[in-house]
Amino acid sequence: MSEHVANIHQHGGQFGEGYGRAKSEGADFSHGVALYLEKVSVWFDSFRALNDLSLYIQEGELRCIIGPNGAGKTTLMDVITGKTRPTEGTAFFGQNYNLAKMTTEQIAESGIGRKFQKPTVFENFTVMENLLLAAPKDKSVKKSLFNRLAPEIKMALQQTLEQIRLTEFVKKPAGLLSHGQKQWLEIGMLLMQQPKLILLDEPVAGMTDAETERTAELCLELKKNHTLVVVEHDMSFIDTISEKVTVLAQGAILAEGTLAEVQANEDVIEKYLGR
Ligand code: ADP
Ligand code: MG
Repeated sequence: MSEHVANIHQHGGQFGEGYGRAKSEGADFSHGVALYLEKVSVWFDSFRALNDLSLYIQEGELRCIIGPNGAGKTTLMDVITGKTRPTEGTAFFGQNYNLAKMTTEQIAESGIGRKFQKPTVFENFTVMENLLLAAPKDKSVKKSLFNRLAPEIKMALQQTLEQIRLTEFVKKPAGLLSHGQKQWLEIGMLLMQQPKLILLDEPVAGMTDAETERTAELCLELKKNHTLVVVEHDMSFIDTISEKVTVLAQGAILAEGTLAEVQANEDVIEKYLGR
């Protein structure tokens, strides 16, 4: 056993044996905590992008994160997905996955799905092909003949298409979809991996009002089966979906509460909303 796996065991984790198993045996949410970040700092040379940040997300929560540009919101998602390592502090997914010691691939397989700001769908492939490409590798088949797919993949595909409302466009090349539809397709690609925790970075940026509304509905639907962390600037969108809101500024948490509460917070008004 490697030294770092042994370390994880000392932290009460079971990463060594748990990793690689079926997802139902994956992240341990038995204490209700899906995501646990404690005193996380990220330094880029002499610049501190995250500053002693502690964040606890409960299983089933839909947490919204707002804050000015450069506040560290994307860096926070980078830490959760392993793209950036915390310089200091602790980051756990459930009780058992020590995110700071896992690769981005291991983190994705452990049940964390992330949507980046820009859609990264395969433009030349159809909606269905994009979704199948995203399905777990052991189950997906190269051929895109629907009838030859495993029953569980067929079901996941149909369910996902309904959720992202792209059923009628299943054979359309992704490049011909609207911007909003591409964003939903990418969310669908996440869903095919059956993540427990979904991170969405500015999902409604560039969307029409109707698409934004539809995305809010989708987030509320996803909340029934997933834990979500959503970064957004669009306040009416946040107002529609939010429960608890975290305001980030200069890498630290400025305020936490309902949207109305944080909007009334003096620090938030000064550093983010403006007077
Ligand atoms: P937000 O998503 O809240 O707008 P970011 O997390 O993207 O903010 O960025 C936070 C700060 O960290 C910014 O000042 C940004 O320039 C800086 N930053 C982000 N990534 C890097 C990096 N890889 N190297 C250096 N600085 C970075
Ligand atoms: Mg960002």
